[in-house]
Amino acid sequence: MSCAFDLGHYRELLDAAAAGGYRFAGFERDPEPGDLLVRHDVDLSLDAALAMGELEAAAGARTTYLLMTRSVFYNLASGEGERAIARLRELGHAVGLHAVFPHVDLDERFDPVVAWHNPEPPFMHEPIAGAANPMASPWFSPDHYRSDSNQHWRSGCPHQALGRAELEWLQLLIHPEIWVYEGSTMRETMHSLLDAERERRLAQLADDKIDLT
Ligand SMILES: [Zn+2]
Ligand SMILES: [Zn+2]
Repeated sequence: MSCAFDLGHYRELLDAAAAGGYRFAGFERDPEPGDLLVRHDVDLSLDAALAMGELEAAAGARTTYLLMTRSVFYNLASGEGERAIARLRELGHAVGLHAVFPHVDLDERFDPVVAWHNPEPPFMHEPIAGAANPMASPWFSPDHYRSDSNQHWRSGCPHQALGRAELEWLQLLIHPEIWVYEGSTMRETMHSLLDAERERRLAQLADDKIDLT
């Protein structure tokens, strides 16, 4: 099994967790032995979040999507954004806020879960009033945390450890964009995202009655 950053291997990772006996959990209670808390910081693409959310639901996985209200890449207040939230909820996932410091725009669209985008050490692990911060205690502990940041696992892809039930519990941070779009480097993957984005923008222009003939 190769640990590629693609949906095929993401499915294998979920199946490994099921084989290891893990249960999917969120941030509404303290982590317990056997929990797998999958968290998605959606930095760039709602389409990628939806593709991943559909795959997870088909695999019986319930995870937590953190969406941005201050993204330069997508607009959560657009029809597209509203449909994305509705679909993620329909699939059974939790939806929280991926916030830009110091703004906590926590409203009725979100469950009370807030993780900072590009956090700096001074506030990264601090509690947030009225919400669970996945990077704060009790959800964060270095031994119970893995992240796929920039297609690089600091301590290895966790599929094997999950399959063998070697981890007491785990919070797994997965960025949908880097698994959904093709590429064997971040550069290639981001170019695939931009290719898809161009098609999406052309369709939006047509919807906006722009003459593209
Ligand atoms: Zn792997
Ligand atoms: Zn982020």
